[in-house]
Amino acid sequence: MEPQAEIPKSSRHKCSACFKQYKIKDHLVEHMKKSYHSVHQPKCGVCKKHCKTLESVREHLTGPLAKSDCAVVFAALGCKLCLSIFDNVDARGLHEVSCSFDPPSVPELMSLPIADMCDEVEAAVLNSAVPDDNGTCPKLVALDCEMVGGGDYGSFNLCGRVCLVNEKEEVIFHAYVKPIIPITDYRYELTGITEDHIVDATPICEVSKRVKEILYNGEESTWRMRTDGGEACLLIGHDLDHDLEVLRMDYPENLTRDTAKYRPLLKTNLKSHSLKYLTKTYLGYEIQSGTHNPYEDAVSAMRLYKRIRSIVHQTNEISIQDNDDSIYYTNDSKKNSPFDSNKNNKKKSPFDLYKKCELLAKSPDELLEISKSSYKCWCWDAKRTLNRMIEE
Ligand SMILES: [Zn+2]
Ligand SMILES: [Zn+2]
Ligand SMILES: [Zn+2]
Ligand SMILES: [Zn+2]
Repeated sequence: MEPQAEIPKSSRHKCSACFKQYKIKDHLVEHMKKSYHSVHQPKCGVCKKHCKTLESVREHLTGPLAKSDCAVVFAALGCKLCLSIFDNVDARGLHEVSCSFDPPSVPELMSLPIADMCDEVEAAVLNSAVPDDNGTCPKLVALDCEMVGGGDYGSFNLCGRVCLVNEKEEVIFHAYVKPIIPITDYRYELTGITEDHIVDATPICEVSKRVKEILYNGEESTWRMRTDGGEACLLIGHDLDHDLEVLRMDYPENLTRDTAKYRPLLKTNLKSHSLKYLTKTYLGYEIQSGTHNPYEDAVSAMRLYKRIRSIVHQTNEISIQDNDDSIYYTNDSKKNSPFDSNKNNKKKSPFDLYKKCELLAKSPDELLEISKSSYKCWCWDAKRTLNRMIEE
């Protein structure tokens, strides 16, 4: 087949996703190849423009250079937290009540000896999945550590306190932690931790062992954990690399959901937001105004995850398997390198399956249909639960 040579020079070629326009079709094709547009991208609820992050949608709707038509509709009918648009003012009013959260009331957290906690923990983990799921969805556990300082200048991070909460925001583990090397800075202003908390605290190795037990949830096969997760929990948190590092453990990346790394939650320059900012902006309340509380931070991460996961994206893919194959994986994690060299199974671009002339012959909508996401959308976690239920 010969390429359609007669591309009319007068008409512009407009990207169906982000609406950028190109004089030359070739340039649109090149743009599509590196944009990874997909149904999973955050979108303006008014004009349906695709954006890289939720913050770009927010700027498009409310920023100094907002698109005026969209801004007018949003001001009248939009939710400032989740950025949804509603049909009328009443519907928005109803929605807003459920969309904004109150700060969680922080329970009295005692550091219990691990042996005493085990039964309670088991009960809480078992309890943590949503009640009507027949135990099929991966259990969610959110983690947060408070760091104290070690080393000559107190600049070396050590875990001083850790808290794990389940999906119902119940504490499933909490401990003050005694590190292996001496604490030289309690960072009291930030952590609220004093020497008294640490004197009888649990040694880090015991804490780390217990955290692993909770997360593995009886799953013994690391192969299963790295593929479909098996019985292991989905670990949720903000900047989990740091938490896992001070806990001296690692956890499979396919089982972590990190609010500091997830593409839609990043700044427009693709750097992380603070948990404080995300909580204020997407959940509607303040955290960390005094000392940090690991329960409060873990709950924030859990709520953010659930909020973002629940956003529905219309997809044609039928099963999670298809989707896994079709995602054009780049790795959003460490150093934001687009292709993590650790990933030995690099995916080819879906556009590589076509000849250039074939791509040039496609309409902008057809090009968008070929394009795949560069990150794994959290909406698939909700679909996976559904799929597992259907399979049973
Ligand atoms: Zn585009
Ligand atoms: Zn999605
Ligand atoms: Zn718009
Ligand atoms: Zn909302």
